[in-house]
Amino acid sequence: MSDAKRLVECAAPWVRALSPYQPGKPLEELEREYGIRDSIKLASNENPLGPPPAALAAMQAAGASLALYPDGSGHCLRAALAQALGLAPEQLILGNGSNDVLVMLAEAFLKPGDEAVYSEYAFLVYPLAVQATGAGARVAPALPADHPEQPLGHDADALVACVGEHTRLLFIANPNNPTGSWLDATQLRSVLDRVPATTLVVVDEAYAEYVTEPDYPPTLEWLSRYPNLVITRTFSKAYGLAGLRIGYAIAHPAVCELLNRIRQPFNTSTVAQAAALAALGQQAFLQRTRELNEAGLRQLADGLSALDFHPLPSVGNFLLVDLGEPALRWYEALLGDGIIVRPVGNYGLPNHLRITVGLPAQNERLLDSLAAQRRRGR
Ligand SMILES: *Cc1c(COP(=O)(O)O)cnc(C)c1O
Repeated sequence: MSDAKRLVECAAPWVRALSPYQPGKPLEELEREYGIRDSIKLASNENPLGPPPAALAAMQAAGASLALYPDGSGHCLRAALAQALGLAPEQLILGNGSNDVLVMLAEAFLKPGDEAVYSEYAFLVYPLAVQATGAGARVAPALPADHPEQPLGHDADALVACVGEHTRLLFIANPNNPTGSWLDATQLRSVLDRVPATTLVVVDEAYAEYVTEPDYPPTLEWLSRYPNLVITRTFSKAYGLAGLRIGYAIAHPAVCELLNRIRQPFNTSTVAQAAALAALGQQAFLQRTRELNEAGLRQLADGLSALDFHPLPSVGNFLLVDLGEPALRWYEALLGDGIIVRPVGNYGLPNHLRITVGLPAQNERLLDSLAAQRRRGR
């Protein structure tokens, strides 16, 4: 056996059993492989408007102080977030993307012998974060594909039924990626009321800014009543800063204090903190983002239905569509037309594609490409 192989065999068995996260294909890679230009990426739920201009200016200005280490605690950004959300700064902890805080939560609360619970078709970072700690997972069955409101969505009762005495963490993506489904205030509240106080309920609100439903859970108002409630949010999606890597968790000060013990001292950069601070004030940008998304969701859902595909209802900035047959051929046909979407076979959904809402012309290009494939008798 080679030395390298022997070394690998010394790693934790649960780490060796992991398969890495598969990100959306980068634009440059597609253009290199296919020898094409002007391709578009509707694969990673990014904001098609790009970053808010005020954030770009703040990043430029932050350049002057880059010889110095960042403020590791992110004092200014946490203070501004606390002010904007009506919280105390001690209830906030920043992460290198919200992915970072999800991993910190798993590291802090899970060990071999413990369990985490999440739903079938939930965001794939949860199983990765859980498995890396050596803890086990219980996966709650999702709602059925023919559910009238939330096909393939989280089933609140099934999630609660999976929680046992060893369950330290329950992950709920609200709305969920890739299904676009969501739990309303009554459903989420019923989960919190039925879970023991020793199980942390992590509500991942990466797409919260996109949701316009009136009965979307007002989780911030519930923090004082449920010390085991953790909310995670990000600047990656509606705020258009995915490449910068900055997100945060909102939790009881005691939970934040615990997470701070394992947080890398400088996990968020000076530039990311400055940009997020500037982005936070850009309410008009956020409003434009929301309006563009609402119109785009309608455009895609109508266009896909007209082509006899089956888009699932979504409150995020993406749509899951059931193609009724293996989706990879459609994925590849779209790539050939310079359009990257996301296959979700790794979520156990081999007949579905996840499509991010783009600009109107990008959505149209996607629909035109699918229509052309249809005409060719696919
Ligand atoms: C995109 C996404 C995240 C956030 O990712 P970061 O860029 O690390 O903040 C978190 N949860 C869900 C469900 C997502 O889709």
